[in-house]
Order: sequence, then C-alpha cells, then structure tokens
Amino acid sequence: MKYVYFFGAGKADGNADQRELLGGKGAGLAEMTRIGLPVPAGFTITTEACDYYFKHGRKYPRELRAEVAKHLAHLEKLTKKKLGNASDPLLVSVRSGSARSMPGMMETILNLGLNQKSVEGLAKATKNDRFAWDAYRRFVQMYSTVVIGLSKEDLEARLRAMKTRIGVKDDTQVPADGWRELVGEYKAHFKEKTEQDFPEDPVEQLWGAIGAVFESWMGEKAVTYRRVEKITGLLGTAVNVVQMVFGNTGEDSGTGVCFTRDPSTGEKTFFGDFLLNAQGEDVVAGIRTPMHLRELKSKMPKVYQQLEKVRERLERHYRDMQDMEFTVEAGKLYMLQTRTGKRSPSAAFRIAVDMVNEKLIKVEEALERIKPEDIERLFYPILDPKLERSELAHRKLAEGINAVPGAAVGKAVFTAHDAEEWASRGEKVILVRRETSPEDVGGMYVAQGILTATGGKTSHAAVVARGWGKCCIVGAESVDIEAEAKKMSVNGRAVKEGEWITLDGGDGSVYTGQIELVRPEPPKAYEALLKWADKIRKLGVRTNADTPRDARVAREMGAEGIGLCRTEHMFFKDFEQPEKSIERQEAIQEMILADTPEARRKALDKLLPFQRRDFIGIFEAMDGLPVTIRLIDPPLHEFVPHDHAKQGELARKIGIPVGAVERRVEQLKEANPMLGHRGCRLSITYPEILEMQVRAIIEAAIDCKKRGIKVLPEIMHPLTLDKKELKILETDTRRVADAIIAEAKVKLEYLVGTMIELPRAALTAGQMAETAEFFSFGTNDLTQMTFGFSRDDIGSFMPTYVEQKILPVDPFQTLDQKGVGQLVETGTAKGRKARKEKHNEHLKVGICGEHGGDPESVVFCHKVGMDYVSCSPFRVPIARLAAAQAALAGGGSITRDK
Ligand code: PEP
Ligand code: MG
Repeated sequence: MKYVYFFGAGKADGNADQRELLGGKGAGLAEMTRIGLPVPAGFTITTEACDYYFKHGRKYPRELRAEVAKHLAHLEKLTKKKLGNASDPLLVSVRSGSARSMPGMMETILNLGLNQKSVEGLAKATKNDRFAWDAYRRFVQMYSTVVIGLSKEDLEARLRAMKTRIGVKDDTQVPADGWRELVGEYKAHFKEKTEQDFPEDPVEQLWGAIGAVFESWMGEKAVTYRRVEKITGLLGTAVNVVQMVFGNTGEDSGTGVCFTRDPSTGEKTFFGDFLLNAQGEDVVAGIRTPMHLRELKSKMPKVYQQLEKVRERLERHYRDMQDMEFTVEAGKLYMLQTRTGKRSPSAAFRIAVDMVNEKLIKVEEALERIKPEDIERLFYPILDPKLERSELAHRKLAEGINAVPGAAVGKAVFTAHDAEEWASRGEKVILVRRETSPEDVGGMYVAQGILTATGGKTSHAAVVARGWGKCCIVGAESVDIEAEAKKMSVNGRAVKEGEWITLDGGDGSVYTGQIELVRPEPPKAYEALLKWADKIRKLGVRTNADTPRDARVAREMGAEGIGLCRTEHMFFKDFEQPEKSIERQEAIQEMILADTPEARRKALDKLLPFQRRDFIGIFEAMDGLPVTIRLIDPPLHEFVPHDHAKQGELARKIGIPVGAVERRVEQLKEANPMLGHRGCRLSITYPEILEMQVRAIIEAAIDCKKRGIKVLPEIMHPLTLDKKELKILETDTRRVADAIIAEAKVKLEYLVGTMIELPRAALTAGQMAETAEFFSFGTNDLTQMTFGFSRDDIGSFMPTYVEQKILPVDPFQTLDQKGVGQLVETGTAKGRKARKEKHNEHLKVGICGEHGGDPESVVFCHKVGMDYVSCSPFRVPIARLAAAQAALAGGGSITRDK
C-alpha cells in the first residue's frame, strides 16, 4: 500500500481526482504541480494512513516511516537543501487537509526543521538575523502548544513581558535579540513542563507534527464541526509536508488569498487581499489591514501578471471559481492552495450562468451546481453579517427548531389579537405563542415572525408561516410563556410585551433586542437559470396558496397553478379587507353553534359572499391555470373561542345564552381531534357546508368566466377513506355545481377529486380512482397516519429519534420513501390503472404536503411519475430546480434505503 504521494518540479504522484485520499489541499497541490504552476515541492501522507492510525490504537502503518524518509530525501535532493542544516537549511510546513474543507478545525505547524544550528544557517542564508529568530520562536511556540499541548496563554504572556522589558509595542519592532531571548525562555518553560529538552532533531520534530495533525482529526472542535456540518464517511485527514516559502523576508515578499471571481457578487473580477512582508497566519489573524490586489498590481506588476495567468489557468482547468492562497518570496510567486471557492447564493447563480455563456460549462452542469439552499437563502432577509459574533452570543435568549428561514425583528406580543392591534398602530411585532391554531392566523399574518414554544416543522405555525415565507421558530422549549401576564422568560431572563426581539429562522436562534436585517436582491442570473430548469423538468410545479396575494406571489415565483387552497384559512381572515375579518369569524362561529340544519344554513349564507369573493380573487390571479380548492378540513373546535370572556362576547353577538356557547364548545372537544370529526367527515355530517363551499367556488368561476378569465377549478375532498364515502361527496358536489352551471347557462368544466391522506385510501386507490378525477397526496397527514405520530407533538421525541439514527431525518420534512413512499407509489399506480381501465383517462396525480417543496422528496415524486408537486410560494423555485435536477439525473428507480 502506498501511503505517501510526492509533488514537485512539474511532476506529481497524485491528481485532482484524489481528494478522498489526499485531502482537498493535497489533491490541489498535486494538480497545480502537474499543470505547471509554481508550487513549492513536498509530499502528502494519505488519509488512509490516518485511518490506519486510529484503527490500530494510534500506531502508524509499518511501512510509513521508510516511505516518509524516502520522500524527505527526495525533497532534500530536489530543493538542494537539508533539514536542520547549519547553512541554508530546508524548512517545511506540516498541514492538515481532509476531503471536505473544515476551516480552522485542524492543526498546522510552520517553520519545522529549525534548531539551534539551522537557525543560524537560515540567518546566514537570508542575511536576516531578526527574520531567522522570529521564525524560530514562532516554531517553538507552535510546536509547544500544538504538538505538546502547553498553554498558549503562558507563552503569549512571556512574549508580552519580553516586549515590555525591551520597551516595544508591536511584534515588528522586536529586534533579533528579543526573539533570541524569547526562544531561550520558551525552551526553559518547555523543559520545566515536560522534563525534556525541546527537540533538536528535525526528524523527531517532523514525527511529532505528523502525530499532532492526525490527532487533530479527532480533536473536539473537529469532531463537533463534522457533526454540525453533517460530514460523514471520510477516512481522516491527510498530512501535507511542504517546503516553506517565506512571505516575510522583506518588502518584495508577502502573502495573499484570492478568488478567481468576486465571491459575494459573482462578478468576473479578480478579488483578493495581499499583505506585504507577512506570513500566512498574519492574514488570517486579521491584525494588519491587507491591501487589495489592485495595489499589488502597481507594487509588484510582474508578480501580479503571473498571478493573473494562474487565475485564468486554474479556472479553465477546474471549470469553477477557485479560492487560492499564495506567497511571494523575494519577488517569486508560489501557489500554496487552490480549491472550489465558497460563494454567496447570488454569486452561485451569476457564476453558473456566466460560465455557461463563456462556454466553460454546459447548462446541465450549471443547474446541477445550484443547491436548493442557495435559492431559499436568496429570498429571505438575514441578520446583518457585519454584526460581531460576541455581540450575538451576548444577546442570545433561546434556541428552537428553525421552521422557516430568514430573520425577523419586532416587539414581542403574546396573543394574536394583540398582534393585530399593535400592527394596526403601525408597530412591527413578533407573535410569541405556546402553539398556534387557525384562530391565530390574523395575528400570525401581521407579525414579522412567529415563535412558538412547542411543535415541529409541520405544526400549524410552521406550515402557515412557510406558506407566507415568514420567519418562524417552533419548539423553543426553554421559553416559558405567560400569555396572560404578557411576558415570557428563559432561565430567569424575562421579555415583556413590547420589548424588541429578533428571530433567526436560519438556525433557530432567538435574540433580545433589535438586530439590523438585510434582504438580498435576487440576481438576473436567477431568472435565466430557472428558465433553463423549466425546459428540462418533467414535473409540474404548483403552489399551496390561500389568498389572491399569495397566488400572485407564487405566479411570480413560477407556479403553474394552485395545488392546494386551504379554504378554512379564509374563515378567519379577510386578507383583502382585514377590517372585515370579524364578520366572517362571527358567521363561521354562528354556523358551528347552530343546532339545526336551517340555522346552520342561515349562518353559511353569510359566509358565502366572503368565500366567493376570495375565490374570485384567486381565479383572477391564476387566470388560465388550474386551481385546486380543498373543502373544509380542520375539526370545528379550532374555530370557536375557548376562554370565558370571548365566549360571553360571542353569545351576546349572536343572541344566545352563554351557557349554550359553553355547552357546544364542550361538545366539540375531542380526545384526538386529528383522528376525529374532521376532513370530509364534516361534509358528510354537515352537507350544507359542502353545499355552501361548492356554490362559492362555482359562482366565483362563472363570474370570472363571464369576464373572460380562464378558470380551471378542481374541487378536492380531504381525508377520504372509502369509495362509498367519496361517491357521496362527489354526487353532492356535482348536484350543487351542475345546477348552478345549468342555471347560469355557461359552459364550465371542473374536476372533482380527492386527497390521499390515509393509508386505507392509498391501499384502495384503485377503487377511489373510479370516482376521483385526480389525486393529491396530502403527505403531512399520510405521514402522521402511517407513523402514528401526531404532527404537532413530535418536538419532544423526534430530535432523539434522528440523533439515535432510528430515523434518518424528520419524516415530516423529507418524505419517508421506505414506508410512506410505498403508499404513494402503490396509490399512484393503482389509481392510474383503474382510471384508465374504467374511464380511459389519465389520472392526474400530485402532492400537496410540505414534502412538495423538499428537494429530495421532489426527486422521489419525479420517479413515481407524478404530474406535479405543490408547495408554498417561496419554495416554488426550489421545486422547479429540484425537478430539473431529478430529470437530469435520469429519473432512475426508487430506492428503499432512504
Ligand atoms: C396534508 O395533510 O398533507 C395536507 C396538505 O393537508 P393539511 O396540512 O392541511 O392537513
Ligand atoms: Mg391534511
């Protein structure tokens, strides 16, 4: 087995494709050497050696020592210098580098090879005593802390004391003697702590450094970083031993970092920083202000020109934006690293599109390079990135589940009613609730962001907020909310009504105070790229929208219709005329409290004009596109007031005794409302609700049609479980609809279909499809019903299930292909077959659960052969891209290991 790969003088054992084995840095150094760029020579010890080291009780592979010795000798021969030599010695850097970038998480040792003899050699060779002793003290300091583990602070204190003693402030003012003295002190300290002399033998130093780099792979910060970034499956870190070049030998030297394009805007300009007379770590430490590359152009025109050529060469070679590190030693350029550059979401779009136009990459590659998160992050406001981390840490109040990304700032309010009242005075508010219900939508709508103490990513708050693209944090269990007292507290820290708080939906952090937010502008390249995606994808993309405004937003985002309009949201909020919300709320409550069908009809008659107006608005917004409208779904108790005062108020308004209200509310209580009197069961038991809703839909459609608007209504029944049940619903629907159409003497086509949300419905899909003209998989409920998990109560156990890898991810976020996926697949196949056989028709199949906007689930839907996915407006572009990526991946077969 070969454990060491050499590079130097235009030849390299490894290449760019060996990232897994040589790490990103090692592969980059090898590749740059191969293509003739100026790279200092060196060798890379593979990640397999690191893997061996940990698998064999921290022992190196037997052959490693000999291999390292051989390559070290080769390096000495090539550079015509020797480690530890008394004149012009070879010095090396020893750096970590794994296959995935883990910035700052692992160790590096510079200037290795210096000892009492070679420091003099270095001084002679560079004719710079001060430089040589500074290099030596840096090495002793790094070795002592990184390899041996002595305290950094102890050494820093000695450095400070020395500076005070000789009366200088900056390191740059310290003369050679100062450094010499400090090396002596460091070594004495080393001896005192370890009872051993500081190693003089460079080979001993080298093995100490190699061991320290391997060890840093398992260091606490590296392990934590891999866990947080979900980096798995790597063998370990490689170790790069490279000839040192010095950027700090004088005014014709320096060190820099550059990007082949601007990483924040994506613009094709050379972007980077350079520090004159400095070593790499000085740039990272940010002690001195670096100069822009422009200045380098005027200060060292030759070097700049050479660097510009390297830039072009590397981009052409890698066909992607690169992030490079370089050093200039006495006017000579050396490349120390190249890797794919990290970029902002908007730069990701611009670079991808520009590279297609420059014929560097194909459209397909451009599409594959954009990550769904890039799109998501493009649209949401974010905390001002300029804010100090320490300031943020100081302000952090609590953490919850990051349900909807983006950030929001507002004054804390604790009831939906207060949210509306404060907002009507022009205040910005954050609605803080234990959990939310449809009653709260008005307050949720006007809030900048929503924070709940309970719930998971598909809780009511999360689903509703996602639909609006509104920042939302749920399940912040450490937050103790006293809604009555209008305050919340976390570990004794209280926030009262009206105090500012800031939510970061990106990571689920809650902060006290008002933090500045910025909203990124989507770049032009975004439109271009998504148009390409639309040409390639096979899946349609619709949206879940309940209001004309959302429908318009979704259309702008590229939605090709509405896949789910949840009509019950209209019962509580008049989104076009908010001041009229109260009228519809009273009407629905009156309907619920009614104890005869006649009384119910009377109340529903009041609701009819509101619903009709809402549907007209939606049809207008979606002119020419299909609109799937779902009839009432949630249990009725969600629509009535639960506190005594509000019940009294309601009783007064509709002129019945308060006792009657209390009794009815009591009656509506269910032990398991999610499994109770909800969904189409409401339309079966109260057909007058179905009648009113169908009437509102059809009358709105006729109104629009008469005005030349193209309407394609699809009436959808939720939570159906049997063909007989669906037949009753369909018959009722058609009876009402057809009568209105006949009376209006217009030609109006509409579809009647069903959601598939229960396992039974999926398993009997063949029978359901005899009646249904379309299926829409409601995978929120289907997941809930398949797993037996209440979607609003997963917060207390789901994190453990995911942590213990019982489940790979929260199945409410990414479709469980193993279980729920089988139901979707079977349901689709059986439904399609039956519809074809019975009616010779294609059964339209879509999905409207939250999974419709989850990229991995979208790929699954593509494979199942669905007609469309439907998701919240802000996820429409994500679904468009994911659908294109699925099509590019060639569809493929469904795997059950997900
Ligand atoms: C579903 O269950 O997937 C669905 C879309 O309906 P809701 O979330 O409204 O229950
Ligand atoms: Mg549902």
